[in-house]
Amino acid sequence: MTHTISLTLEETFALAQSSLEERGFSTSQAEAIAESVTIAERDGCSSHGLFRIPFYLNALKNPGCDPKAEPELTVSDSSVVHVDARGGFCPLAVKKGVPELVQKANSQGIAALAVHNCYNIAALWPDVEALAENGLVAFAFTAANAFVAPAGGIKPIYGTNPMAFAWPRPGQPPLVFDQASSASARGEIQLHLRDGKNIPEGWAIDSEGTPTTDPEAALAGAQLTFGGYKGAAIALMIELLAGALIGDLFSYESSERDAHRVGAPFGGEFLLAIDPSHCVPDGNIKAQQARAELLFEKILEQEGTRLPGARRQAARMETKVNGISIPETLHSAILQAGRTT
Ligand code: NDP
Repeated sequence: MTHTISLTLEETFALAQSSLEERGFSTSQAEAIAESVTIAERDGCSSHGLFRIPFYLNALKNPGCDPKAEPELTVSDSSVVHVDARGGFCPLAVKKGVPELVQKANSQGIAALAVHNCYNIAALWPDVEALAENGLVAFAFTAANAFVAPAGGIKPIYGTNPMAFAWPRPGQPPLVFDQASSASARGEIQLHLRDGKNIPEGWAIDSEGTPTTDPEAALAGAQLTFGGYKGAAIALMIELLAGALIGDLFSYESSERDAHRVGAPFGGEFLLAIDPSHCVPDGNIKAQQARAELLFEKILEQEGTRLPGARRQAARMETKVNGISIPETLHSAILQAGRTT
């Protein structure tokens, strides 16, 4: 039986923040990461919750990783805002760019945020949800490390390359989806390994290219994209958007740079924000949002359906009242990792 520790969300934040600060993260970096990790735990996404703290600490082994980095914001007349994370981590860099992105999208209709030179270990949905809470339609893309084989191949070249989308809804949380272009997030395979469970078929192949359900063989081999060549096309698009389009690394380049095999992806994140009032011909976005609500209702009329993000919202209600529980082994590992100098 797995022994667990119960934590409130405040305790979750404090545990994450203190373990990072004890290992030399600046207060602003530690707070932004702790917020990202706490939000993931709050919404029942444990693969991007406290489980990720050892990954953040491990990233320090990479030369050039700066836990005290102050992201640099560059704003011009263009509709593209740039943030150079300077070898720090994504949560703080994105936070730095969002207010300008919102302003540009409101004034110009469509705007983008290019985040450069950052370690990205976080889930993307908090980034697009925050933009939709400002009334914007939003997309986010990031590449990772080379973990995923191209369609027909057996060697990893793509990252698990997630993309997230958010649609603002009147009087309720935005509709949000956030999905890896691989059949599963890598964190899910790592969690299966930790818990001694096999992974589902179709997630990965071993290093010889044979389909496997063994998480260890999967991590040593290659993950597969979702939906075969269709998911591979999405993975390729994300390499181009978060890599070549903004002058940042492809997943295989991030892996080549990862000399210590830390597994923390380094590169860019690309966010797009659209102010819907510029798109609707008569400017009446409220009428279009009402039509979108009708579409959602029609989907939900069918038994067995739910909207993306509904599981997270349900978890959010639950954890706000009851807090979270994590394996005792993870709790001890975080406490120990924080103390290790
Ligand atoms: P999932 O496959 O668990 O879920 C993908 C999306 O589908 C979610 O929005 C989910 O909503 C929705 N969904 C799931 N089931 C249904 C259903 N039956 N009906 C309608 N919608 C459904 O996520 P992934 O494993 O693909 O990705 C997990 C996370 O990993 C993401 O947050 C991603 O950002 C992160 N990631 C980060 C990387 C990085 O380098 N930073 C790399 C790769 C992934 P809900 O949340 O409500 O279940």
